[in-house]
Amino acid sequence: MFNKSIKAYEEACEVIPGGVDSPVRAFKSVGGTPPFIEKGEGAYLFDIDGNKYLDFVQSWGPLIFGHCDKDIENAVIETAKKGLSFGAPTVLETQLANEIVEMFENIDKVRFVSSGTEAVMSAIRLARGVTGKNDIVKFEGCYHGHSDSLLVQAGSGMATFGSPSSPGVPADLTKHTLLCEYNNIENLKKCFTDSSDIACIIIEPIAGNMGLVPADEEFLKACRELCDANNALLIFDEVMSGFRASLKGASGISKTKADIITFGKVIGAGMPVGAFASNKRIMGYLSPDGTVYQAGTLSGNPVAMAAGLVSLRKLKANPEIYDDLSVKALRLVNGLKRVANENNIPLQVNTRGSMFGFFFCEKEPKNFKEVGFCDFKRFATFHHEMLKKGFYFACSQYETGFICTKITNEDIDACINAANQIMKNL
Ligand code: PMP
Repeated sequence: MFNKSIKAYEEACEVIPGGVDSPVRAFKSVGGTPPFIEKGEGAYLFDIDGNKYLDFVQSWGPLIFGHCDKDIENAVIETAKKGLSFGAPTVLETQLANEIVEMFENIDKVRFVSSGTEAVMSAIRLARGVTGKNDIVKFEGCYHGHSDSLLVQAGSGMATFGSPSSPGVPADLTKHTLLCEYNNIENLKKCFTDSSDIACIIIEPIAGNMGLVPADEEFLKACRELCDANNALLIFDEVMSGFRASLKGASGISKTKADIITFGKVIGAGMPVGAFASNKRIMGYLSPDGTVYQAGTLSGNPVAMAAGLVSLRKLKANPEIYDDLSVKALRLVNGLKRVANENNIPLQVNTRGSMFGFFFCEKEPKNFKEVGFCDFKRFATFHHEMLKKGFYFACSQYETGFICTKITNEDIDACINAANQIMKNL
C-alpha cells in the first residue's frame, strides 16, 4: 500500500539528509515512512501509491482554499507567463500590502520576504534597531523559524538565559534570548526584573507549534503592559494564525495589539511568502529609509504576490468563510472528543477558527511542559491507523491541524467514524 513511497523515501535519503527538506516531514515522531505526494485536489491529497487522503495539514496552513483552487491557480499561471522574477518593484507588491494595511489599525507598512523564518528574523532585528536594546523574550514551545537566536531549548519554566538547542548555533548568539513559560505572567515579570535590556517580546498569540495552545487574554495583556513599561516592542508571530484563526488572525480575536506582526503561509496561498508589518514610525527604521538592513533577491516575488492577492481578496470579500470553517473545525474536534469519551480515552481538544488541535491527556495543556505529559505513543498509533484509513493528520502532537474551505461535513463525519473504530483498540 505504501511500496512506492517506501522506495522513494529510501532513494531520497541517499541524496537529501533524512530524505526531506524540512525535518517534521520525515515522520520521526510517529515513525514509519511519509507518503510521497503526487498531487492535491481540494481537500484531498494523493500519494504516489495511489492512496487518497483527507488532508488536515494543507501544507501546514497556507492552503485555506485547499489544493488547486481555480482562482489562485489561474492567477499564478497568468502571472508566471509574464516572467517569474524581476528583482525590481511590481504593483502586485503594493496591492498586497494595501490589502493587509487596510485590515489592521496598528499597521501602516508591510515588507515582504520569502518565508516565516525570514519574517521573524527581520522583525527582531527591527525591534532591536528601534529600541537600541539586545535581549529578546521568547516562550517555551513557541516556534519562530530556524534562525539562530530563536533556536533556544525549552527550559524548566523559570526565566533563564537561553542555551542553543541545535549544534551549530554559538551560545553567544542565544545569550540574548530569554526563555519564559507560556501563559505564566509571574515568570514573564521576572524576566523584566532580571534584564533592563529587553528589545521585544516575541509570541505566538495562538501557539500552534506545541499543538494548539492559545494564550490567555490576561497573559497577552501582561505582555503589552510590560513592553510599554519597559520601552520594549511586542511582536505577534502570526505566521500560522494570520488569516487562519480569523480574518485578522489572533489580532482579530485578542484585544491586545502588537507593535509588529509577522505573517506567512496564507498570504502566499502555498507560494513561498512571509511578511512583517508595523506602523510608520517603526517601519521607518528599515532600509532604505532607515538604517536597519534587510533584503531579499526573491522578496515580493510576483507569482507569490499574485497568489496571495487572490487568496486575501477572496477571504475579505467572503468573511462568512470563517464562520463556516470554525463550525467545521468544531464539528471535527467535538466529534473526536465524543468518540474518545465513548471509548474511555482522555482527549483534550481546541479550535481557533480553522485551526484545531487535540491532545491525548487528562487536562488541557496551557504550556509546553504540560503538552509533554500527553500520551505520545497513543498519538503515534492513532496517526498511523488514521493514515491507513485515508486521513492525513499532522505527524506530531506538537503540531496543529487545518480545515480548508473544500472540506465537507460528510468528510468530517467520515473522519469521526474512522476515529471511533480506531479508538476501540487504542
Ligand atoms: N513562525 C511560526 C509561528 C510558524 O508556525 C512558522 C512555521 N511553521 C515559522 C515562524 C517559520 O516559517 P517558515 O517555515 O516559513 O520559515
